[in-house]
Amino acid sequence: MSSSQTFFQEILSTLEIANRHLKLPTAVYERLRVPRRSLIVSVPVQMDDGSVNYYTGYRVQYDFARGPAKGGIRYHPKVNHDEITALAALMTWKCGVVDIPFGGAKGGVACDPTIMSKGEIERLTRRFTYELGLIIGPESDIPAPDVYTDEQVMAWMMDTYSMMKGYSVPGVVTGKPICLGGSLGRNKATSSGLVTTVLEALKHLGMRIDGLTVTVLGFGKVGFHAAKILQDLGAKIIGVSDSKGAIYNPQGLDIDAVAAHKAKADTVQGFKDAENLTNEELLTIEVDVLIPAALEGQINLTNVNRIKTKILAEGANNPVTLEADEVLKANGVFLLPGILANAGGVVVSYFEWVQDLQRFFWNENEIDARLTTIMTKAFKEVLDIAQEKKVDMRTAATVLGVKRVADAVITRGLYP
Ligand code: GLU
Repeated sequence: MSSSQTFFQEILSTLEIANRHLKLPTAVYERLRVPRRSLIVSVPVQMDDGSVNYYTGYRVQYDFARGPAKGGIRYHPKVNHDEITALAALMTWKCGVVDIPFGGAKGGVACDPTIMSKGEIERLTRRFTYELGLIIGPESDIPAPDVYTDEQVMAWMMDTYSMMKGYSVPGVVTGKPICLGGSLGRNKATSSGLVTTVLEALKHLGMRIDGLTVTVLGFGKVGFHAAKILQDLGAKIIGVSDSKGAIYNPQGLDIDAVAAHKAKADTVQGFKDAENLTNEELLTIEVDVLIPAALEGQINLTNVNRIKTKILAEGANNPVTLEADEVLKANGVFLLPGILANAGGVVVSYFEWVQDLQRFFWNENEIDARLTTIMTKAFKEVLDIAQEKKVDMRTAATVLGVKRVADAVITRGLYP
């Protein structure tokens, strides 16, 4: 994160840059600079030792002019209102970039799930869902997984909401287990979509996938699947990292073997066919594609100058600070911004929601094909704007996403 601006202020700065090209009517621009609705709740949780802890939970619905608010729920000690608002704004632009009929939202609870038992996480989830019951629903706001939440958390959310209603409501959350109305392909959707944008970028830059060198920062769901798909396509994953450290092998890592090692050791470090590095050391290794897939602000002024990559594909939401962005631009790095590159997750969330509402499920080939079509189109539209307006890819993606939201806001008009 930059030292001078909060995360949300950074998002507003990006919006301001986009608006230099969009020139929106002042009233509309001002509308898009504030969240439509924020709910802050206190979540009491009975801990395993019988005591009660109070956690603060948030849900920000940034805008829903284009359809129900949509976005993930994260459990992390650093969750706060500014961060959730920023991420909700990004979700709004993201749904605009890939042109799916959703507004944007984000939610989270400030807690450390890594030190909580499964029972404590379940009780936290159920009470948080109950508190959010005022504003979520398949027609109004549909949560999904994000940092440190998974399909089990979504199952508890779906169950709690359904108990409150008195009947099953699968469409209230996406990213659910398949047996509860989850969608095939949702688990790796963010990564598949990211790989589609990388392949399009390679075509645009005249590069080839065979022997392409890649490093992945963050070996969670998004990082693992991205590494795996790219490896299957012929790329060489030479480095990966997690919160505890990094590993490096210039000949390429066997991603399944790294995952098996991480499952036992709880870190990628110590993998037998690689050298241990610090996360900062890994950043200095020269590669063709760098994929930050952990938290926001991971690439900032302290480390950006050491990065030597041709393409940077944001698997995480805003892993690059605004100031670091300028350095990457000056160094000629081709950026695939998160609101484009990681939109595959919410695209398949959209498919899941449609399937739940229709009670009619699609096969994996249909899902993959539809996802690829949407991601390829979005990449092309963003690149066209970047070339036509002579702007970087982040500005171009923001211009596209915000324009779609603004068009809806303008066409709906002001109530009353
Ligand atoms: N948390 C994911 C994101 O940031 C997915 C959101 C969703 O599927 O609603 O895009």
